[in-house]
Amino acid sequence: MSDTKIPLAGVIGHPIAHSRSPQLHAHWLRKYAIKGHYVPLDIKVDNFERLVRTLPSLGFVGANVTLPHKHAAHELADIVTDRAKLIGAANTLIFRKDGQIHADNTDGYGFMQNLLQSAPKWNPTLGPALVLGAGGAARAVLASLLDIGVPEIFLSNRTRERAEMLKADFGDKITIVDWAQVGNAMEGVKTIVNTTSLGMVGKQEMRVPLDALAPGMLVSDLIYTPLQTKLLRAATDAGATPVDGLGMLLHQAVPAFERWFGVRPEVDDELRAAVLR
Ligand code: NAP
Repeated sequence: MSDTKIPLAGVIGHPIAHSRSPQLHAHWLRKYAIKGHYVPLDIKVDNFERLVRTLPSLGFVGANVTLPHKHAAHELADIVTDRAKLIGAANTLIFRKDGQIHADNTDGYGFMQNLLQSAPKWNPTLGPALVLGAGGAARAVLASLLDIGVPEIFLSNRTRERAEMLKADFGDKITIVDWAQVGNAMEGVKTIVNTTSLGMVGKQEMRVPLDALAPGMLVSDLIYTPLQTKLLRAATDAGATPVDGLGMLLHQAVPAFERWFGVRPEVDDELRAAVLR
């Protein structure tokens, strides 16, 4: 791309109207006075690869990718980062000047940066963690919890086989807990993370017993619609530290924005307010 062109980026999904990424990136583009645009791109599964390959010629420097395309984005890329390989899915594409497509997954980075910023006193190495869910987001969460030194992770999923696949990939520090026992598994853990879609607007409410939540625990929910889930309300009532999912969305966008537009952006209250507006 010639330097005189205005750089474009966007988020590809189907559906995509609900995405908050356009407000997020628009805020940073304004804040750093960058002449660029970030747009939502509603692309169906059958058209994904063909349309992605046309984007660089239209002036796109990259794109975020969300459901249902995260696996396909990982598959079509020429270069895939180790963390995207581990997760088997990409949420960020970079269209390089040499024509190659570079795929990354910044969900785990966003998840961990959010916890570190929101709960600076949290020490994840002091006790086990419990992770609910075994989908793509759970993979990113497991990788980053192990990376920061969590000694043991209890993993529970409605469909046990999916949890077993994750244990096979992530190893001996993972102990599988039956979904019916998830309430008991909360006892004595340092960190709890919900990566299921339970509690999200339009999905089922979380019905697992929450009476073992206690002070000293960090409780994180990846869901951000609503911002205050039943799990997070119960955590607050129990004196635990709640961390909502919006911060993960904000932080996962940092490496992508930096690669596309050349400025490392800040995650602050102003950004949060802009995205919530
Ligand atoms: P996914 O691959 O579809 O996984 C969905 C998970 O939810 C699976 O573990 C699934 O269990 C579980 N689940 C769904 N319905 C359930 C029910 N009725 N009872 C018990 N478990 C149920 O999705 P994903 O990509 O991992 O995303 C999971 C959630 O994280 C979504 O809500 C997504 O919006 C959120 N997320 C947030 C961020 C952020 O930036 N904050 C980033 C990524 C994802 P089964 O295996 O049994 O189906």
